[in-house]
Amino acid sequence: EIVFIAKETDAHEGRVAGSVESVKKLKSLGFDVVVEAGAGHRSRILDPEYEKAGARIGTTADAKGADVILKVRRPTAEEITGYKSGAIVIAIMDPYGNDGAIAAMAEAGLTAFAMELMPRITRAQSMDVLSSQANLAGYQAVIDAAYEYDRALPMMMTAAGTVPAAKVFVMGAGVAGLQAIATARRLGAVVSATDVRPAAKEQVASLGAKFIAVEDEEFKAAETAGGYAKEMSKDYQVKQAALVAEHIAKQDIVITTALIPGRPAPRLVTREMLDSMKPGSVVVDLAVERGGNVEGAEAGKVVEVGGIKVVGHLNVPGRIAASASLLYAKNLVTFLETMVSKETKALALNMEDELVKATALTHGGAVVHPAFGGAKE
Ligand code: NAD
Repeated sequence: EIVFIAKETDAHEGRVAGSVESVKKLKSLGFDVVVEAGAGHRSRILDPEYEKAGARIGTTADAKGADVILKVRRPTAEEITGYKSGAIVIAIMDPYGNDGAIAAMAEAGLTAFAMELMPRITRAQSMDVLSSQANLAGYQAVIDAAYEYDRALPMMMTAAGTVPAAKVFVMGAGVAGLQAIATARRLGAVVSATDVRPAAKEQVASLGAKFIAVEDEEFKAAETAGGYAKEMSKDYQVKQAALVAEHIAKQDIVITTALIPGRPAPRLVTREMLDSMKPGSVVVDLAVERGGNVEGAEAGKVVEVGGIKVVGHLNVPGRIAASASLLYAKNLVTFLETMVSKETKALALNMEDELVKATALTHGGAVVHPAFGGAKE
């Protein structure tokens, strides 16, 4: 059976769905691997490296012969026409609000998997693209902030005088936020952080950052069984905003990462708070694609709001593409391995498997995922 690693057609996507390591792994699983020419260029993987790992370098037309297509982004309508009916396509499908695109994959007879729907259970940790990519986004957010900051982050005592350490405040201490804290600490900043989940308190402290939050009764119950944040009450939001307003005025860099599953991102930084900060301070909004945590943040832009630089880069993991591709490719191949029979080394898709059930959008000509119009159980 043939796995095709596609070259991404989106001009803003530097990542690729295969690495040298993942090609070797696919070969050992019994697959023939075709990599579309140039697919890895923007992730610093050259065609001869894939070849050395056992892949054949092909063209877009080779997708037609593939049983499995690996991608970063959901295939476009045009790409879909190049796949054979019955093929498996695995990508970050961005399924919410894209019913038409999902229906098109069903009509084309594809079995489409959305990696971001992977359950966050122990068995699937190595397939968790939200974590692998958010972790790098958290790192990159600090690098982007440092670039815009025009000053050093660590305290530097020199013969010519002392540069003070930057104060960095991280809002939302999930996967991205914790990596942002760790990165800012490594760069020598004085770091504080906030979250609404009580479990975050200890994690923030263990990274050497100060935890700032309204720790009332609601806070103590703010984590869902799945480990995610709840949307907080109006009353809590008012108390949180007052605490944050006081703290933020003293910060040099603020990095926001707060998300609530299935809801728009919570608004955490108001225009008033931005105005209270020192001119030249930097705010990075990692939630900008989901509505934004910061008032005035613009998706895909770095804007000045009253003397404060507000950074709203899109696809932040894609800004660190070579590392992001390495981890993403590993997530993909680990998932695909669960679909391969150990005895026959052939694809043996089990639609009842919990990982398959959670991630399969389309199969057998129909939309199968209940969250996107598939039949309910
Ligand atoms: P996320 O991306 O959904 O949200 C980012 C952070 O924003 C979360 O920590 C959330 O609590 C916080 N937040 C939401 N509203 C807020 C507000 N009003 N103010 C401040 N902060 C707010 O979350 P995530 O990074 O995907 O991770 C969520 C949790 O899941 C974490 O505890 C993480 O460790 C856990 N997790 C578990 C697994 C696993 O078991 N396999 C994998 C990944 C993550």
